Amino acid sequence: MKSVRVEKFPQFDLPKSLERLGELAFNIWWVWNHEAQDLFAMVDKYLWDDLNHNPVMFLQQVNYARLTAQANNAEFLVLYKEVMDKFDAYVGEKRPYYSKKYPALKDKGIAYFSFEFGLHESLPVYAGGLGILSGDHLKEASDMGMPLVAVGFIYNKGYFSQRLTEDGWQETDNYLLDFKKLPLLAVLDDNEDQVLVKVELPGRMVTARVWRLLVGRVPLYLLDTNLPENSEADRQLTARLYSSDSDIRISQEILLGMGGVRVLRLLGYNPEAWHMNEGHSAFLTIERLLEYIKDGKSLEEAKTLVKKNNVFTTHTPVPAGNDEFPLWLIDKYFSKVWPQLGLNRDEFIQLAHNTQSWGETFSMPVLAFGLSNQRNAVSKLHGQVSREMWKGLWPDKVVDDVPIGYVTNGVHTGSWLSAKYRNLFDRYLGEDWLENVDDAEMWARLEQIPDGELWAVRQFLKRRLVNFANHRARRKWQSGKIQPSQVVASGVLMESNILTIGFARRFATYKRANLILSDIDRLMSIINSEERPVQFVFSGKAHPADEPGKLLIQNLYRMIKDPQTGGRLVFLEDYDMKIARYMVQGVDVWLNTPLRPNEASGTSGMKAALNGVLNFSVLDGWWHEAYDGNNGWVVGDDTDYQEPAQQNQHDADLLYRTLENEIIPLYYGNRNAVNVPVDWVAKMKYCIRTLAPQFSMRRMLREYTEDFYRPACE
Ligand SMILES: *Cc1c(COP(=O)(O)O)cnc(C)c1O
Repeated sequence: MKSVRVEKFPQFDLPKSLERLGELAFNIWWVWNHEAQDLFAMVDKYLWDDLNHNPVMFLQQVNYARLTAQANNAEFLVLYKEVMDKFDAYVGEKRPYYSKKYPALKDKGIAYFSFEFGLHESLPVYAGGLGILSGDHLKEASDMGMPLVAVGFIYNKGYFSQRLTEDGWQETDNYLLDFKKLPLLAVLDDNEDQVLVKVELPGRMVTARVWRLLVGRVPLYLLDTNLPENSEADRQLTARLYSSDSDIRISQEILLGMGGVRVLRLLGYNPEAWHMNEGHSAFLTIERLLEYIKDGKSLEEAKTLVKKNNVFTTHTPVPAGNDEFPLWLIDKYFSKVWPQLGLNRDEFIQLAHNTQSWGETFSMPVLAFGLSNQRNAVSKLHGQVSREMWKGLWPDKVVDDVPIGYVTNGVHTGSWLSAKYRNLFDRYLGEDWLENVDDAEMWARLEQIPDGELWAVRQFLKRRLVNFANHRARRKWQSGKIQPSQVVASGVLMESNILTIGFARRFATYKRANLILSDIDRLMSIINSEERPVQFVFSGKAHPADEPGKLLIQNLYRMIKDPQTGGRLVFLEDYDMKIARYMVQGVDVWLNTPLRPNEASGTSGMKAALNGVLNFSVLDGWWHEAYDGNNGWVVGDDTDYQEPAQQNQHDADLLYRTLENEIIPLYYGNRNAVNVPVDWVAKMKYCIRTLAPQFSMRRMLREYTEDFYRPACE
């Protein structure tokens, strides 16, 4: 692959002996390498936390005297050298795992397109699960040494930050990202000018520049239209994630799909596999058809070639997640394109025609399915649901033969496992354990960890969550902008030695955050038990246009603020990757209550399981295939009712029953002489052992490689 030219990274004012900290800041490898984070924290822990763990800002703002102090601190210098050596070894290694395991594929480039990437809280250009999955995909591709390159957007107004009014109404705070404070470098051409990519939108050309973000060994190219040569409206085109305005949305998707292919060509990439992570990038199929047609191929030949290399992953059965556009919008944006393909309007629309929803539409998933030979859903159950949902595209096939496979999602172990457990595992699982995270036998060594040690880490992580909530509550209270009841709702009455249940996710109605409120008296008697109290921590945002989602938050928040809860229900505002980390590591039980079969996979429960947090979930998404009767609990059972109200009542009743009869007694019962709940710890071990390998990003990328990238490349 061609080496891509980028602007020089800015010089920070650093002592000579520490000058490579700048390099470290400009490759987010540090996100999953705790020793590298420790370096920044050792220089100034408060500033590091205050700046939301953003090393570029940190190096811009840190007091020089603190740096010189560390430049003279032998202990710091040892760690610095260790980290830089590890970094050099990592970046310098030429594709070890991947090229050994898949020698025939080692030079076959893979392009990965996604609307959002969730890599770290200091890069808030993700909304939720889809973005986190994309981010984890890149991190693991880097660890494996996969020749992957990714394309997406850098949204300068990001997603949004969430604030709740006293009455629990979600308000959105907007921010403006300053790219000079992020590890982004502009991509340059041979004349040192910015690389620009153009796409035609109705009546004008829109120009985007390209930023590079290094994710270990994987480059992520991010498009940005905020340039003086664009109109004011076009400068805002890449400002925000998930606009509800269909003109903006289709323009973004044209820019990502068609512009993204052009960016890769400009930079000299010639990928053999093209992975569309959800339908947002499906216009890349059109751009690739155009490329072949300009090259003299017939449309039929072009289709065959495009399909062969394309991989399409569908991520949700929920209609709002499957983009479709009205036909008049397609006329507006594509009437100049279909003649270039040698098609008339009807034939063009036929590429993505959907008549099954709210009228005749142009459906991005239909486009992507039709022009990819490799197609998958994101869990076993979601595979079945998708085959049923999209069977109309293959009218001559019975449902079971609909050609949509599945690869169940996974999570990037290095990013989600707490440093404390990582250190413990380093001691007991052998030095190479992280290189073998997908090996179930390796995980059997977990049994060698003494119960007391595993439990001590669990207790530490819970205290850390409580301290975190307290610290945030204090800050907010000091801001003078919140009421005392909101301070309580933010978790100041939390305790660090009682059973703690976490629930954090997008507040979409199908996720049923309020299922736990179905019987308030029963809930109060559970949480307020003198002997066996329970606390619940909630977090999550609703999409700003989702009124029912916002009502759900309000309904929950009103309950949380009710004095009878005694502060045992807590809401942590502004869910992001940092809160997710504190929660999936800090609670005892991870609750998930979606209405089946809407949760295609879910990944937060996998992060929890990795940290020995026991899942308590509806048998939907990943849990449907993960639950084995012992590694956690189920909410409800396998009964599906026609009526949602009936389903809710059924599920809520079983939820309370399992809590009362199984979860609470296991947690508080059978303590040994030093108060370790040995049965609970045994279950934790079993949970980690059975779930960590199977739901690792390593296992996921192996399956993508073997089942989808390989056929696309060969
Ligand atoms: C993991 C994660 C998600 C996705 O979790 P689900 O289980 O799919 O709801 C969403 N947001 C953040 C911040 C996450 O870390």
